[in-house]
Parts: sequence; structure tokens; C-alpha cells
Amino acid sequence: MGIAHMHQRTASETAYQTALAQFDRAAQYVSARADYLEFLKYPKREMAVNFPVKMDNGTVEMFTGYRVHHNTALGATKGGIRYAATVNLDEVRALAMWMTWKCALAGLPYGGAKGGVVVEPKNYSPSEIERLTRRYATEMIVMFDPRGDIPAPDMGTNAQTMAWIMDTYSMTVGHSVPAVVTGKPIDLGGSQGRNEATGHGTIIAMVEALSRQGSHNPQETRLVIQGFGNVGTFAALYAAHLGYQIVAVSDITGGVYKASGLSIPEIFAFAQRGSALNEYRDQDVDFVTNDELLALPCEVLIPAAMEGQLTDRTAPHVKAKLVVEGANGPTTPEADDILQDLGVIVVPDVLANAGGVIVSYFEWVQGLQAFFWDKDEVFRRLERLMRQSYDRVALTAEEKKITLRTAAQVAAIQRVADATATRGIYP
Ligand code: GLU
Repeated sequence: MGIAHMHQRTASETAYQTALAQFDRAAQYVSARADYLEFLKYPKREMAVNFPVKMDNGTVEMFTGYRVHHNTALGATKGGIRYAATVNLDEVRALAMWMTWKCALAGLPYGGAKGGVVVEPKNYSPSEIERLTRRYATEMIVMFDPRGDIPAPDMGTNAQTMAWIMDTYSMTVGHSVPAVVTGKPIDLGGSQGRNEATGHGTIIAMVEALSRQGSHNPQETRLVIQGFGNVGTFAALYAAHLGYQIVAVSDITGGVYKASGLSIPEIFAFAQRGSALNEYRDQDVDFVTNDELLALPCEVLIPAAMEGQLTDRTAPHVKAKLVVEGANGPTTPEADDILQDLGVIVVPDVLANAGGVIVSYFEWVQGLQAFFWDKDEVFRRLERLMRQSYDRVALTAEEKKITLRTAAQVAAIQRVADATATRGIYP
């Protein structure tokens, strides 16, 4: 039995099971040969590496890392690298598959990939993380390529991580290759706006969804944001800038809630100092667990942490009318059904959080042309692409009478299936 069959249809217990269940729901609306659709469920190649890293105290510790290329029908594979203690092959496989649909839906010339290292970064010093990154990049030299597979940041990694990967790759091949990664620091050829892009794009998708539901007043629209990493932070800051009322935010330690609205710049400054939100004492806030946070009264819920948060256990308590997925895979198929029954609209991950990879693509293009754009230009183009994708998904949903999730998957899978049919099966 192939790996694409290793899932039960009743429960989605792992991320890859969720990804496959979503695929199965969408596949029936795609016009393509059944055997070609079967092909699209499989990761093309997977690599697992075990490698040693010298610790600051002279001892050596072993680490495990992965990189999965899901599909290359549309071009080079693209996708982030995650550093977290929870990383495993099943998760990386799911995240790679979601990248394929995300890139296809946005119309980018990329397939999907993802990588990860099983490590809790906050338990290691910056120099240990640098050595771990350089060794992981060296082990993955056969996977990374500026025309074949282009990593970017994800949970637990950032622009500095990308700089080390770019430098390690460049040292190995003997010349500088900035195009081998995106999400680089600006001074190495990074793009303006890339750091903010995912959160910013999530809010563009939210505004689009809210305006399609009728006119709305930002001051009267309450947002709850789960996760205060790169996505949640910049979503909160941009939403606050647009005048939305953010009543709760959380990190892994739990969340802070204030019915009359939080001052996001203050919390941002607090988090920048490296403090956990459960230590936050200002603004007269109430503390909530991450599960309680999902059930808070609000108009919009933005899960921006990680997969598997809205499940058959937590989804029945959602009070929001709109869920906008800043994270990848935060909602299980069972929770999708529950939310649909509750009349909650879900703007799916591959649409809502595509801002990151869209600006990654802009970074790659700017670098290859050695011609760089200003921030206004980047955000103008980002907004245009996000709106086009939203239109496409909304139209598909309306035509086929399906949810935005299934519609997004249908539009994306159709594009990859068409490219596969046109290319043909080798040999
Ligand atoms: N890690 C981000 C994501 O999940 C960005 C990937 C990229 O820019 O290649 O979409």
C-alpha cells in the first residue's frame, strides 16, 4: 500500500491525513484523469538526514532533518524550513503538499516543498543554531538549488537562518548564489516587505472576505489572533493600523484578552524583548489558554500558529463568523464540517497565508533581474495577486456550491493537473 493510502477516511489525526482528506474532497470537482490525480497525492522525493552538531561546551549532539519535494509540474519547488521539537516527516510531507496548492493557486511558477529540523531553537545558543543550520544545509545540498528547490523561513527560522543557508551553499559551489533562498536579509538581496508579507496578506484576505459579507466598520470588528510569531505579529500590527479592534493574541504560553481591545504596538514591543505573553502585566488583561482563546467572542478568528488547532473538540465553541487561516493546516476536515454547520466562513490557508510565498517569488524575480522594487511596489503587487486569487476561489465556490477551502484546492489542483497532462508522463 502506498503512503498516499495510509489514512483513514473518518478521522484526520495527522497533518498529512488532513492534507489527503482535503485533496479527496476537492478531487471530485477537478476535470482530470483519475490516474493523474492519484499521482498528485504523492510526494515526489523525500530526504531524511541525521547529523552531528558541535555544542558550545565541546560535546556533540545528533539532530534529524527533512526536506520533501511534493510536486514539480509547474517549476522549482518552493517552501520554508521549520525548526521545532514537533517536526516529523508526516508534517513536512503535508506542509510540502500545501505549498504545491498555495503556489499553484497564486499562479506562481513553483511546485511545493518543505523542510524541517527536530530542534527546540530556544534551548540552543545562536552559534549552535548557526552550526546546526550550516550542517543541515550541507546535508541537503543535493536538494537545494536556485532553479530546483528554493527554501524560505517558516516557524523557528528567519532571515538570518536564510543568510547562513545562502552562505553555506555559496561556499560549497564556489560563487555567491542569493537565489537559492528567499526571505533573506535586505542587505543580501532580500525583498522589501518580505518579513511582513504573510501577516499583511492574511489581513488583505480578511478585508476581502469581510467586504464580500457586506460593509463593515473596522472599529466594530473584533479580531482574535492565535500565535504571535512572524504571521500573527504582522497580521496584528497591520490590522491595528487599519483600525480593527484586536481583543486577544496568544503565543505558546497562552493568550491575553481585553474586551475593549489591546494596544498591539505595546504587546509587540514586549514580545520583541523575548518575553512570553503569560508574563504580560500591562493593559489590564485577562489570561486565557489557547483553547479558551479559540472560543472568545469576536467577529474574526485568525489561527496563525500551527496545524491541528481547530478540531472536532475546539471548533464547536467558535463564536467568530469568519476564520482566516494565517497558519498552515490549522483546521481539520471534521472541524471544517462543524464550522460550516455553524455558518462560519473559513478563508483557507493556501489562499489566506500565500502572501509570504508571493513576496518570496517577488524576491527571487528581483534578485535574478538585479532590479529591486520599493515597499509600495511590493505591497501593490501583493494586494493585486491576493485579490485575483480570492476572486478565483470565490467564483469556483459559487459555481460548484462548495466551501472556500474546497474551491481553493480545486482551482490549485486543476492547474497542476493541467500542467501534468500537458507535460505528459515521462518516459
Ligand atoms: N513558509 C512560508 C509558507 O508556509 C513561506 C514559504 C516561502 O516563502 O517559500 O508559506
